[in-house]
Amino acid sequence: MNAPVKSEHLNTREIQSLDSAHFLHPFTDHGDLATRGARVITHADNIYVWDSEGNKILDAMSGLWCVNAGYGRKELADAAHAQMMTLPFYNSFFQTTNVPAVKLAAKLASLAPAVGGRSFQHVFYSSSGSESNDSNVRMVRRYWDLMGQPQRKIIIGRHNGYHGSTMAGASLGGMSGMHAQGDLPIPNITHVEQPYFFENALPGESEADFGVRAAGFLEAKILELGADKVAAFIAEPVQGAGGVIIPPATYWPEIQRIVDKYGILLISDEVICAFGRLGHWFAYEKFGYRPDLVTFAKAVTSGYVPLGGVMVGDRVAKVLIEQGGEFNHGYTYSGHPVACAVALANIELMERENLVGRVKDDIGPYLAKRFAELADHPLVGVAETCGFVAGLVLVKDKVTKTAFDPNLAVGMVCRKHCFGNGLIMRAVGDRMIIAPPLVMTHAQIDEMIDLIKRCLDATL
Ligand code: PLP
Repeated sequence: MNAPVKSEHLNTREIQSLDSAHFLHPFTDHGDLATRGARVITHADNIYVWDSEGNKILDAMSGLWCVNAGYGRKELADAAHAQMMTLPFYNSFFQTTNVPAVKLAAKLASLAPAVGGRSFQHVFYSSSGSESNDSNVRMVRRYWDLMGQPQRKIIIGRHNGYHGSTMAGASLGGMSGMHAQGDLPIPNITHVEQPYFFENALPGESEADFGVRAAGFLEAKILELGADKVAAFIAEPVQGAGGVIIPPATYWPEIQRIVDKYGILLISDEVICAFGRLGHWFAYEKFGYRPDLVTFAKAVTSGYVPLGGVMVGDRVAKVLIEQGGEFNHGYTYSGHPVACAVALANIELMERENLVGRVKDDIGPYLAKRFAELADHPLVGVAETCGFVAGLVLVKDKVTKTAFDPNLAVGMVCRKHCFGNGLIMRAVGDRMIIAPPLVMTHAQIDEMIDLIKRCLDATL
C-alpha cells in the first residue's frame, strides 16, 4: 500500500502530476490538462480564492454558481461540526426522520411563495441538481400513472438548457455535445428552441414579440406530439450553463398560458436561480409563473456541502401522498442531517445579512449599471444582467453584431486572460458570464468591472 499523501508536503508540480495520474476530472480534456497542468486552488476567503503559487483570484463565478454566501463562513463550518458530533448520518427511509431535515423542509416551504393559489408544502431531498432532476422524471411519470394517464410520458426541455449530467439530467438538458456521447436523450424526452433574443430574433423583431414567438415553439411541439402524450415542460428561469440567456419579459407568461391550456406539469429548474441569485428565494416569483416542481441544489448550502432537492407543489404532492402508496425512489443521502444543518445555517445567515434583498435593491441594480458600461467596449455586442448573473457577447463587428469564427475560440482566449489577470469568468462559446457571490460590496463590483475591462482589452 502507498503511504498516504500529505498535501502540505507537496509542491505545485507534484500535485499536478498526481492529479493527472489519478484524478479523472469532470468536463475536462485530459490531454490538454496533462500538458498544461491544473491550477491548484488551495484556499479561499470572502470572494477570493488563492492558488498554490500564491496568486489571489476574484471568483466571479461563486465556484460553480453556488458559493452565494461567500467563502470562509465560520457559521457553516460550525453547523457541520455540531451536527456531525450529534448525528452524522441516519437515513430517512423506512419510517425514520431527523431533526435538521424536518426543520429545513419546513423552512423551505415557508420561503417558497404560493402563486395563483398553488403552494409548496413538501420537499424531496437528493444530493445534487442532477439527481433532483432524475427525481423529477420519476415523480412526473408516477403522477400521470396515478392520474390514469400513463400515456403522458414525454418531457419537453430546451436546446442549450442544462439540467445535469446523469442519464436523465443530460437528456432533459439540450446540450448537443452531451447528447453525442452516450446515446442521449433517453426515450420520451425532446426539446424546443431556447428564447435567445440576441441570436434567434428575426430582423426587426421586438424583444416582446420574440418572447411570445419563442414560447410558441412549445405549443407547436405539444400539438405535433399530441397533448395527451406530454407529461411536463422543464426549463431554467434564466439559462445558466447555456450562457446566461435571459428570456424576454413576455416569455414566461406565455409559457404559463400554454402549459395551463394543455394541463402539462411545469418544472422550474432553479439549481442556479434560487437562493437569491435573481433577488428572490425562488426565481419563479420574479417571473410570476406557477411551477408544479422546483429543482434546487448548489446555493441551498452555499456549496459548502452537497445538497439538492425538489420543492413539490400541492398538485403533485397530493396525488403522490394520497393515492400513491409507497414511492419506490430515494437516495441514501436524501435528507442528510449534516447537509440539512448546513443549509439551515446558510439560510439563517442569508436572512441575517439580507443577501436576497441586497441583490434585488442594492448590488443587483449596481451591477446592472456597471456591467452595462461594458457594452461600449469594441469587442462587446451586448452586455446584460438579471439579478446577480450577467453575460456579454464577444463579437467581431460591433455594428453588424457579426460573430467571430468559432475556430478562433475567442471566448476561451478571453477566459485565459481573465485567469491570468486574477479573475474567474466563464466562457460559453463567445458569451462571457459571471455569477458572483452575493456578499460583494460596491467597491468589489468596481474592482471586478475594471478586471473585466482589462481582460477584454487583452483579448482585442
Ligand atoms: N440544473 C441546473 C439548472 C444546473 O445549472 C445544474 C448544474 O450546473 C444542474 C441542474 C446539475 O446540478 P449538479 O451539478 O449539482 O448535479
